[in-house]
Amino acid sequence: MELTEEILQEKGITFTDKASFDLAEKEHQEKSRTASAGLFKGGLADTSEMSTKYHTATHLLLAGLRSVLGDSVTQKGSNITPERLRFDFPADQKLTEEQVKAVEDFVNDKIQQQLPVSFVEIPKEEALKKATYAAFSEKYPDIVKLYSIGEEGKEASIEICNGPHVENTKELGHFKIVKQESVGAGIKRIKAILE
Ligand SMILES: [Zn+2]
Repeated sequence: MELTEEILQEKGITFTDKASFDLAEKEHQEKSRTASAGLFKGGLADTSEMSTKYHTATHLLLAGLRSVLGDSVTQKGSNITPERLRFDFPADQKLTEEQVKAVEDFVNDKIQQQLPVSFVEIPKEEALKKATYAAFSEKYPDIVKLYSIGEEGKEASIEICNGPHVENTKELGHFKIVKQESVGAGIKRIKAILE
């Protein structure tokens, strides 16, 4: 702000519109934040304890959806707040009651098994081969973090990710799907909570 004012003064322009400047600056910050909240970063609005739990639960939700609906399930979007997780995926139909229960049971089973959450930093190519799921549209850096949930050889989930995670699934509590919505053509949205 001060620097801009100085430069403008040097050019003989009087700087009076502080409000517009503040607004423009805020918009720019907002844009940067949205851009960096991509899938790779985990879609988190903050890195609070609850958001970290919700983000970790998102890995299990994706694994659960793929276990119940099949490998056609991909992650179209993720948004995390300290209050809930939101997850978008391609599907023509909403989950049936039985499928909701099956996905919840999958996630809660992994929580009850108290699985360790660990990561290795390895080259992207190697990580893409090991991952149980990867968003191939993402522009990953050359070296990535590959997160595993569960012991080696029987992982519930292996994903390339840069978000914050808990160290053990036992920290997550109880997982519950609270809402399903349609958001656009063939995209379904799940909202879920940890209680
Ligand atoms: Zn993650």
